Amino acid sequence: MADRDVAIVGGGISGLAALHYLRRQRPEWCVTLFESDRRLGGTIGTDHIDGYSFDWGPNGFLDREPLTLQLCEQLGLTDKIERANDNVSNRFIARGGKLRAVPMSPPKFFTSDILSLKGRLRVMMEPFARRPDGDKDESVYSFVERRIGKEAADYLVQPMVSGVYGGVAERLSLKSCFPIMHTMESEYGSLFKAMIARKKQAKAAGRKSGGPSGPGGWLTSFTGGLSAIIERFEELYRDEIVVGNGVERIEKDADDYRLHLRTGESLTARHVILSLPAYAAAPVVSAVSTTLSNALSAIPYAPISVVCLGYPRESVKRPLDGFGFLVPSKEGLTILGSIWTSSIFADRAPQGRVQFRTMVGGDGDHESVNLSDNDLLARVTSDMDSLLGLQGEPEIVKIYRWSHGIPQFRIGHGELLKQIEAELAWAGNLYVTGNAYYGIGLNDCVKQSHRVVEQIVASESVTKS
Ligand SMILES: Cc1cc2nc3c(=O)[nH]c(=O)nc-3n(C[C@H](O)[C@H](O)[C@H](O)COP(=O)(O)OP(=O)(O)OC[C@H]3O[C@@H](n4cnc5c(N)ncnc54)[C@H](O)[C@@H]3O)c2cc1C
Repeated sequence: MADRDVAIVGGGISGLAALHYLRRQRPEWCVTLFESDRRLGGTIGTDHIDGYSFDWGPNGFLDREPLTLQLCEQLGLTDKIERANDNVSNRFIARGGKLRAVPMSPPKFFTSDILSLKGRLRVMMEPFARRPDGDKDESVYSFVERRIGKEAADYLVQPMVSGVYGGVAERLSLKSCFPIMHTMESEYGSLFKAMIARKKQAKAAGRKSGGPSGPGGWLTSFTGGLSAIIERFEELYRDEIVVGNGVERIEKDADDYRLHLRTGESLTARHVILSLPAYAAAPVVSAVSTTLSNALSAIPYAPISVVCLGYPRESVKRPLDGFGFLVPSKEGLTILGSIWTSSIFADRAPQGRVQFRTMVGGDGDHESVNLSDNDLLARVTSDMDSLLGLQGEPEIVKIYRWSHGIPQFRIGHGELLKQIEAELAWAGNLYVTGNAYYGIGLNDCVKQSHRVVEQIVASESVTKS
């Protein structure tokens, strides 16, 4: 008999959610989570300094995934949930050195200055756009350029892709990043027609419909920052968690897996969940399957730095009346965009102060993330000053660097997933979860961990019957 029913490797949100679902569904099982770092949370963390709260990586999740909301409720966090302020529906894009409001309705789009008249007319031609050649894995850029034109691709979609995915639209796979857009085109022949049809269906069913990039949602976090969820997991499950001891490699041991820990001990487990970034999972599984290991290492990651700045409110000339802004690469700035954190969640800065979270790097810029703190700060404040009008220096600066920040679902990602799934099925009782596979957000991590736990529970029920 194995030492553990299930071993979970990696203590970010994915591993912790898997642990939670296993404890709820099979409290009698012996489950242990191994985390190599001395702390839990992975990219989730919050620093509280001088009245400011700085999130290290993610700063929230969209409230569109019922599983995540249910998870918060099960963890007893409902009272701590903090929804973004109502004014955050205003969003801006930098063009020609000015911030321009993103139009949120068709009439506003007609009169907006975000695209030239020619560019706006080209968007209106969307229903007549040519269909794709076959069913190849098309890039996000090529899809958008084909359907709504080059100007919209450069000034509306590319900045959104670099802001959310840290990616380059020409390299990313439409089917993997925006599967809904792909389905809308194949089912209705046009995004506009699909949106109208979906709106009607949603109205009939009494729910809200989302845009072409997916169902909408409201940014949601917890009072004081996102790390509240990690602290709660830790309180509930500390007896099942080992921190500061990573898993170096695993190998098959008859029907079980043997896990070799970095401290030299080893143990066996019947099922193993790898809740690690794909590049970190690759060496762990190399003794089980080199094909699996190679497929995992073939998922690239983009570096990203989060530069958090605090200013007295009067040092910022522009009203911070929205979510923040994105910067198209054609603008030639270093920053990808900036979130007006204290406008979104008022408690992230002390009274009379504001906080910005500005992103640098991504797959299109592997150099800026390696600048020294001073040089990075100088570039960020100069770009921000040109768009917002800043007086003086920030009163507080925190820089969080992620050398392997965000997995990139490039063209061919779907094929990699097929290989990974096939090798996992061949190995048996081995599972992966995290943001490298089916979606990069926190909601995707929770969903994937839930799916994996369901799979394990179902497989054990079959074994026993
Ligand atoms: C800058 C940034 C901003 C983001 N913003 C958002 C956002 O606003 N909203 C959103 O939904 N998502 C956002 N994301 C994505 C989100 O952070 C991730 O999807 C999510 O946190 C990934 O969680 P995870 O548990 O899968 O992986 P991780 O958080 O990477 O956790 C993996 C864990 O595995 C551990 N580990 C590694 N190797 C080993 C080993 N051999 N043995 C044991 N443990 C090991 C690591 O130490 C780590 O703790 C952002 C990401 C970044 C980088």
